Amino acid sequence: VPDLRKDPLLDRWVIIAPQRAGRPNEFRVASCARTAKSCPFCAGHEHDTPPALATYPEVGSAGRGVGWQVRVVPNRYAALHSESVLGRSCGGLFESLGGYGEHEVIIESPDHVVSLTDLSDEQAFLTFLCYRDRLRHWRGVPNLASGFAFKNVGPAAGASLEHTHSQLIVMPVVPLTLQSELSGSDRFFRKHRQCAFCAVIDEELERDVRIVCRTDNFVAFCPFASRFPYEMWIVPAQHASHFEEIETAWIRELAQLAVDVIGRMEAVLGRPDYNYLIHSAPFDTSAVDHYHWHIEIFPRTTTTAGFEWGTGFHINPVPPEDAVSRLRAVSQLAR
Ligand SMILES: [Zn+2]
Ligand SMILES: [Zn+2]
Ligand SMILES: [Zn+2]
Repeated sequence: VPDLRKDPLLDRWVIIAPQRAGRPNEFRVASCARTAKSCPFCAGHEHDTPPALATYPEVGSAGRGVGWQVRVVPNRYAALHSESVLGRSCGGLFESLGGYGEHEVIIESPDHVVSLTDLSDEQAFLTFLCYRDRLRHWRGVPNLASGFAFKNVGPAAGASLEHTHSQLIVMPVVPLTLQSELSGSDRFFRKHRQCAFCAVIDEELERDVRIVCRTDNFVAFCPFASRFPYEMWIVPAQHASHFEEIETAWIRELAQLAVDVIGRMEAVLGRPDYNYLIHSAPFDTSAVDHYHWHIEIFPRTTTTAGFEWGTGFHINPVPPEDAVSRLRAVSQLAR
């Protein structure tokens, strides 16, 4: 039986349509052969990327040579550039800002591996530490409104290189998706005097039908109005609006939880391509009561077709409650 569900935060509806799903292995994506030949992100190929902006742990000579575990470099094919001039120009109706911003690549391992779950505990920790540090860095730079850290794994998720990496784009405007979340959460706050995310977490923990996993400080769940099969969100259990304000002591726990839930998803779906992204309040705000940072994770098992593009509705063939029962059933040892 299909179900039209509304996201409690956004005016976003999804159609949960289990009758459209076949058995779960119909989603199974064949993992492609690894091609480590001349990969610019592998150790020993540091000269194939621009010099590092930061390395973890810190090593000399702009991150060249061995010793680094995680390395940040400018994107060679940057979508935006801080050398561009920020200047609003307006030709009648047509507004433009110049290409001001920055686009970085976070290389998460010196070894040629493909997923977050292939990293050592230390590399996973350093990757999330790096997101935090780079966002902190850019938050202090004038004229940047928001920063967006995300990861594409596999061609269906938009990755052009296989070697595991994330990207960070900082820009002088707040992207539309974040704006919608901010205005939806502001509306919710005014009506209920409570953060929508905090309210959702309380209710999810109480019902316990969509929680994948929880740790002391974080909760991972499949949202009620999941747009995609096996969509998962990780949120801090206590209210926090800016990801970059996370304490170092919590980053390891967060990284391990991300590895855990992505590992479960990979075990259930056979290592699908996937994306995750961090949504965090804009740089120019101090702590916000109504907005709660979160990580959204989506395996790419469905394609966005005409209906989705034209209406903004998603049709999701897997009810999140079913996804959760499969994700919970995966034992740690199976991975
Ligand atoms: Zn590589
Ligand atoms: Zn909250
Ligand atoms: Zn979001």
